[in-house]
Amino acid sequence: MTTTRAQSRLASAPFRFGYGSPALDLAVTLRRRGSTPIELLAKPEDGERWLQAAGLVSGSIRLDGSALEELRGLRDAIYRIGRAAVAGLAPPASDVRLINAAARLSADAPQLGGDWTVKAPRARQFDAALGTIARAAIALFGDERQRALLRSCEQDDCAGLFLDRSRGERRRWCSMSRCGSRAKVAAFRQRQKDAQR
Ligand SMILES: [Zn+2]
Repeated sequence: MTTTRAQSRLASAPFRFGYGSPALDLAVTLRRRGSTPIELLAKPEDGERWLQAAGLVSGSIRLDGSALEELRGLRDAIYRIGRAAVAGLAPPASDVRLINAAARLSADAPQLGGDWTVKAPRARQFDAALGTIARAAIALFGDERQRALLRSCEQDDCAGLFLDRSRGERRRWCSMSRCGSRAKVAAFRQRQKDAQR
């Protein structure tokens, strides 16, 4: 079916940036949350590529499976907090704890492991990236004005978060060219169907 083809095309699509905050850019790496989600961070290498593309690490970085889990965990906490903000609800407490913990991570803070080792510089670079994303999330969610501009894409299968910086602040889709045009095509088809009845 076309869905499979569309999904594999989406999965191989490049990452998207420019959603108004690195926190939102990360949130969008799980696409189409409103229907069948498409995971762009499926493998540790995907996480490495994303961190590099986002400019959050200098040079190369190696992630293992648990680091990838951490990155996705932060991402999903950001998404849930963002959705709560859009809905006018309180942020989920466990997600708040998670981003607050991540916000304390920085390259300058060596982390002692349970086996008495201090994490290698590469690992600290990863922590620094998580810290940067989490602090960006806190700056965004903690700012009343920015929080008021936060939207959830009205294209149902997308449900992606974005900051509405349009002049009238009435933006409905995360991307006019993608979700906006898909929504318009769907509305057009629906009108045709209705007309045929
Ligand atoms: Zn969208």
